[in-house]
Parts: sequence; structure tokens; C-alpha cells
Amino acid sequence: MKEIILIKNGELTLKGLNRCNFEDILIKNIRKSIRDLGECSIKKAQSTIFIEPKDEGFDFQEALERIKRVFGIAAFSRACVCEKDMADIIAKSPDYLREDLKKVKTFKVEAKRSDKRFPLTSPEICREIGGVLLSHFPHLSVDVHNPDLVVNVEIRDYNAYVRGEQLGGAGGLPVGTAGNASILISGGIDSPVAAWCMAKRGLRLNAIHFASPPYTSARAEQKVKTLLSKVARYSGTINLAIVPFTEIQDQIAENCPEDYFTLIMRRMMMRISQKIAAEKGSLALITGESLGQVASQTLPALVTTDYVCEMPVLRPLIGMDKEEIIEISRKIDTFETSILPYEDCCTVFTPKHPKTRPTLQSCEEAEANLQIDALIEKAISETIYTYID
Ligand code: ATP
Ligand code: MG
Repeated sequence: MKEIILIKNGELTLKGLNRCNFEDILIKNIRKSIRDLGECSIKKAQSTIFIEPKDEGFDFQEALERIKRVFGIAAFSRACVCEKDMADIIAKSPDYLREDLKKVKTFKVEAKRSDKRFPLTSPEICREIGGVLLSHFPHLSVDVHNPDLVVNVEIRDYNAYVRGEQLGGAGGLPVGTAGNASILISGGIDSPVAAWCMAKRGLRLNAIHFASPPYTSARAEQKVKTLLSKVARYSGTINLAIVPFTEIQDQIAENCPEDYFTLIMRRMMMRISQKIAAEKGSLALITGESLGQVASQTLPALVTTDYVCEMPVLRPLIGMDKEEIIEISRKIDTFETSILPYEDCCTVFTPKHPKTRPTLQSCEEAEANLQIDALIEKAISETIYTYID
């Protein structure tokens, strides 16, 4: 029995004239995500994308797993390909749907004909296939209002398709349709979730990580790479910049008042990040900040960091509780990595009494003894770039 995967676009259907462009990007992303699983053809017709395996070894199950993570997909399912002929549909349906139907007590059949020349009407198709399934599976009954399973029969241009359970897609917009932004990534719980949230809205991601060896270890850096590789399963390849931050932190520790350490560190991160981001074609920065979560994320603190940054800063988690953020991090499988104990540079120099109501003027006074431009230039010149898949 020939089997294919049917994919329904998400919000894409709303995008008017851009729709073709969006669909093409979605198809490209789907193709990339399953390219190593065997040969297949990917086509679109009438707001559905069809994936048809072309070689015996195509890994169907893994393809479904990967498609679940491609943004821009509302729903998808596996489907059996039939001739446009009731006899063939009747012959194949019971066998194809056996496993799905064994699990449920009630079902209904829905039929759609995009080819109106098909000799039976949709209600007639439903009645006939429903009758056939009832005769094959006596434990079933029909429930048209609240069935355990909806069996779909679609009559299209060249073939008919029968499918059982439909799976929910990742939603959102195809990565690459919204441009490019740079996530400031730490090894914590929040920033990978923030990255995922913005990739979901169609942004392609670059990433920037500040490392402070020997205060932070090689394992902390590896943790960030692991987190990004988990995000990349949704976002596609991420270009990572690793910025050496040790000297800047030492300079801050030597020259600035302790209660301003974190704030000044964050201002330095923003200054450096926007330069690296612009170089990589990003139009915005992304952070995992959530209002009030820690001292450096009070509104006055966020305002003082934004002052040094001309580039917009996207903060998708700003209104979320930690519990909500953790729920997403479990869903995208970053949580277990995030809670590994390796130190981030932010936790190495934490002041005992961090300023929670800083003003711009007090921040500028606190960092007056730093050679800001020289430090930024040196850090950028020593930055190392790599790709995460
Ligand atoms: P996270 O869980 O993402 O580490 P957090 O709650 O620990 O966040 P902070 O450590 O204050 O918060 O960091 C706030 C944001 O600053 C992070 O979400 C991230 O975007 C950025 N950030 C923190 N540390 C680094 C770092 N070492 N490199 C790059 N960005 C960082
Ligand atoms: Mg952190």
C-alpha cells in the first residue's frame, strides 16, 4: 500500500499575495528537515503539501517526528493513496485504518471532493465507507457528533486519499519568513525558550554567547551548544558567536561599584551584541528576560540596558511566569540540559545587593572608569564563530 504524508499549512493561508512565497519557504524547510531520511518528492496543491517517498528505505516514522517540529504547519497526517475509484478505496481502507480503528469505539467518515466529477457525492462516500468499516470492525459504532476518530476520504485531481488520525503541527510561521535576529544565549532555562518562541514567529536565528574562562568551564560552553542544537531542531541551523568576556568582567570587578556589577555587565553584553548582530544581518536582539524575575530584570534595570542599544530588543518571555517558561522548556526538551549545574558568567560575579532601581545617570557614573570602546573592540576581535545544526 502506498503511503504519503499530507500537510496542512498554518497561518500561512492568511497571507494573501505573499502566500506562494511563504509556502515555498515552508517546503524548503520541510525538505531540509528530512533530507537525510531517503528520497521523496514534495509538492503542493490546494493549500496541502504532499510528501511522497520515492525509495523503499524512506524513514517514515522519523519523517513524521521531524515534521512535528517544522513551524508553519497546522496539522499533518499519514494517508493511503488510492485510485479514484470506490472499489479501490473500499478495498484499501479497512486494512490501512486497522490499527487506528482498533484503538477506538466510535468513528465517523468525512469526505471531500475537489474533483466534482467523481460519481458519488460526499455524503454518499461517507455512507458507503462507513458501512464497509462497520462490517469489518463490529466493535465500532458511528458517532457523528463526538467520534473518537474521524476517517477522512479526499478525492483530489489524480488520486483519492484515506487518512485516520490527524496530528497537530508546531504552528507559527515558517522560519525565514520574518527575517533574522540574534538571541543572547546563556546556559539557563529562559534564553533557549525565548529563541524557540521567536523562531516560531518565522525568525531565522543567530546566537551570541559570552564565555568567561576560567571562571566558566568548557562544559558550560558545551551546554550552550547542546541547548542550541535542541532549538535548531525547530529553527534550522544557528550561527553562534562565542565572545570572550573574562577581561571585561575582571575590569568591571576592579573599576565599578559592586551593586552595579550585573547591570554594567548586561550593558556591555548589549553593546557588543548589537555590533555582532548587525554584522550578521540581524535586525533585532532577543533575550530571555522576564519582568521582575531577578534584580537585573526590573523595569528600571531593563531601561538602563536598553539605553546602550539602538537595535530593538525582543523579549518574548517578558510577561511569562517561570512555571510557564519551564513548561515550554520541557516541551522543547531543553529543560534537562538547562538545569545541569555549570556556571554562567552572570552567576560568577553576582553582587550581594544588586541595584534594583538604577537610573541611567547612576549607571553611567558607575562605569565611568571603564575603557568601554577598547574593551568592546577587543572582545569582538577575539570572538569565535561556529555553526550549530
Ligand atoms: P537564562 O535562564 O536564559 O539564563 P536568567 O533568568 O538566568 O536567564 P540572566 O542571567 O539575568 O537571566 O540573563 C538574562 C538574559 O541575558 C538571558 O535570558 C540571556 O538572553 C542573556 N544572557 C545571560 N547570560 C548570558 C551569556 N553568558 N551570554 C549571552 N547572553 C546571556
Ligand atoms: Mg542566566
